Amino acid sequence: MKRIITVFGATGAQGGSVAKALLEDGTFCVRAVTRDTCKPAAKKLKEAGAEVVAADMDNKESLEAALSQAYGAFVVTNFWEHFSKDKEITQGKHIVDLSKKLGLKHVVFSGLEDVKKLTGGKLEVLHFDGKGELEVYFRECGVPMTSVRLAYYYSNFLTFKPQKSKDGKTYELVLPMGNVPMDGISVEDLGPIVLNIFKSPSEYIGKDIGVSAEKLTVAEYAAIMSKVTGKTIIDAKISPEAYGKLPFPGAEELANMFKFYWMKPDRDPELTHKLNPKTKKFQQWFEENKDAYKDL
Ligand code: NAP
Repeated sequence: MKRIITVFGATGAQGGSVAKALLEDGTFCVRAVTRDTCKPAAKKLKEAGAEVVAADMDNKESLEAALSQAYGAFVVTNFWEHFSKDKEITQGKHIVDLSKKLGLKHVVFSGLEDVKKLTGGKLEVLHFDGKGELEVYFRECGVPMTSVRLAYYYSNFLTFKPQKSKDGKTYELVLPMGNVPMDGISVEDLGPIVLNIFKSPSEYIGKDIGVSAEKLTVAEYAAIMSKVTGKTIIDAKISPEAYGKLPFPGAEELANMFKFYWMKPDRDPELTHKLNPKTKKFQQWFEENKDAYKDL
């Protein structure tokens, strides 16, 4: 009998990558969680060999069936669906409590630092802090857990594309990092990392792993974009304070995250490449996605 791993967020970016890697490898059975088993991503998971189950992190009863008989779980909570630290914590705690009750042997949790605690309250990053509190709660409850703390997704560069400068001649990359290198990763590379963590529990239980392909400055990201697109793309040199005032939902929250990135959180490209030797560096990812920048 293969051991079952329940994969939360299996229809999304992180969980989708994890489900794919586990299914391709075949060591574990994948139980994929979604709130809507009829959506196309859920159907695809079923076709690929996953058991697809309906559960909602807001509903503890629905989660128990999703976790029962499971050996382990990959857990990702989605702050950006509701923008609430409290809600994210409540959802995560439901899963921690059930993991304890049902005796799961290994949970890989998509965590992040509790910035508020680390900075003595000087800086709050709500979508980090809730995950940091959950990391502590997992451990206080004695659930065997590995936290994977992901760097900035490269796919964020598809949402936040370089902007045409005022003179219309160049493009500006609006990333408030000054000259401080920022870690990045293709979220599609997470799956094999999590698979290898599940395959070596004694090595990774109790650890927090900063997942990153490499660290580049804004100027370096822009230089790669320029080289691949043939356009002149430069650092907009925006401050985190000015970024926080940009007119889109979550700008201030992201500005606070960039302020934390200035403190160079512990991300480990060497371990990341050890866990997934095919992890793409930014240039490779950008070349593979250059069609999305055709209209620049
Ligand atoms: P995503 O692609 O938007 O997918 C979200 C997933 O969460 C979906 O599969 C969705 O499933 C599931 N989900 C949401 N609410 C649920 C609920 N109440 N019950 C059950 N499932 C639920 O998100 P993602 O990118 O994989 O993960 C988002 C998280 O990544 C955020 O918390 C963010 O802070 C973190 N993160 C992001 C970055 C970045 O650079 N973007 C970096 C590090 C960490 P259904 O809709 O099918 O039910």
